[in-house]
Amino acid sequence: MLKAILFDLDGTLLDRDASLIKLLEDQYERYATIFHEIPKNEYIKRFVELDAKGYVSKDQVYSQLIDEFELNGTDPEELHQDYLDQFKYHCIGFEQLHITLKALTDRGLKLGIISNGRCQFQMDNIKGLEIESFFDTILISACENLRKPDPEIFNKALSQLEVTAEEAIFVGDHPLNDIKAAHNVGMKTVWKKDMHWGPAEASAVIEDLAELLELADRL
Ligand SMILES: [Mg+2]
Repeated sequence: MLKAILFDLDGTLLDRDASLIKLLEDQYERYATIFHEIPKNEYIKRFVELDAKGYVSKDQVYSQLIDEFELNGTDPEELHQDYLDQFKYHCIGFEQLHITLKALTDRGLKLGIISNGRCQFQMDNIKGLEIESFFDTILISACENLRKPDPEIFNKALSQLEVTAEEAIFVGDHPLNDIKAAHNVGMKTVWKKDMHWGPAEASAVIEDLAELLELADRL
C-alpha cells in the first residue's frame, strides 16, 4: 500500500528553467551599468548554455561570462552571491503544484523532498515556492553529506517517514540520480519527463504534476 511520495526539487517541483530566466532578467536590470553593452537576451542565452541545467558551478559560469563579455566593475563572487541571495524571489513552481501537494496530503500520504544542492539555497527556494508545510521530511545533499544517487540518502528519507521502500514512490526528472537510484533501493518511480535528460526507465511517466493524483491510486 502506498504511504509516501518523495520528490526531487529542481525540474520536478520547481520549474528551474523558468525561474532561472526570471532571476537573470532581474539581475541584468539591477546590474544594468555593468551589463549595458550586452543585449539582455544574449546574456541570458549564454548563461543558460554555460549553466548546463545547474550542473556547472555558478562561480565558473560567472567567471566565463565576465571573460567572454569583457565585463568590468564586478567579479564572479559578487554575481554568484547575488544569485544565491535573489533566486528565492523568482521561484516558479510547475502547474498545479499546490493543488497536487494538498490533494496528496489530504489522502494521508506522507511527502518528502530529496534534493542535491546547497543547504540554505535549496531551503530558501522551497520556502520561495511556499510548499515547505506540505513535507514531512526534506533532505538536501549538502546538509546530509550525502548526494543522490547514493542509496543512503533515499534510505534516510524513508526511515524518517517510517515507511519501507515498497510503500513509497520517488518522483524526479533525472534518469540516473532520481529514477535509477530510487529504483535501486526498491522504490517505484515516476519520471517527470524532461527530454534534456531522458529517456528514463520508470514505473510511470508524467508531464504534469496533477497526473500523480490518478497514479497514486494505481501504483
Ligand atoms: Mg531535478
